Amino acid sequence: MTTDRRQYYRAYHEENRERRLVQSREYYQHHRDRIRENYSKNRETILAGQRDWYKRNGVAYYAKNRERIIANVKKYNSKNAAKILEHRRANDAALHKQALDIYGHKCTCSCGCNESADGALTLAHLMDDGKADRISLGGRREVFQAAITHPDHEKYATRCWVCNSGAYMNGGTCPRLGNGKKLAISIRKNYQILHKQ
Ligand SMILES: [Zn+2]
Ligand SMILES: [Zn+2]
Repeated sequence: MTTDRRQYYRAYHEENRERRLVQSREYYQHHRDRIRENYSKNRETILAGQRDWYKRNGVAYYAKNRERIIANVKKYNSKNAAKILEHRRANDAALHKQALDIYGHKCTCSCGCNESADGALTLAHLMDDGKADRISLGGRREVFQAAITHPDHEKYATRCWVCNSGAYMNGGTCPRLGNGKKLAISIRKNYQILHKQ
């Protein structure tokens, strides 16, 4: 095809964009069963083709259509907010359960609180590198995923929220182990920081 011709077709398609979308939607409605059957029969080939195309053109395509892609994602997200939230919650709950299955369903803090209600438990960073870990892995979810994929009992342990965040406020020691003075100072400091403005 000559360049002129290609340009002509492209202009034609752009001009009739809306009409074409309606047409293909109608076509899909009419032939839905056949299309679905065809897709499930050739799924692997189709997906491999898409991956191949994306490898070759993905970056350029994104650069060219960035605004439209972002707008579409935003539109999809706001339309499906409830569904996305529900999906995320289910995913978080599954990660939480898998982590506790590995690290135990009981607080391991040496204060001996032995909290065993799943909802009150989380993963603690034994080497106090939680913040660095969240930053380098990309977030809380990613930390759980890493702790599940590569179990490391010297790095992670089950702790209840009170022992875990209490220790954070108390300079690294569970407040139930004492040192209440330090905790009081740290709470006061945080209060001052929060109410500075
Ligand atoms: Zn505890
Ligand atoms: Zn404790």
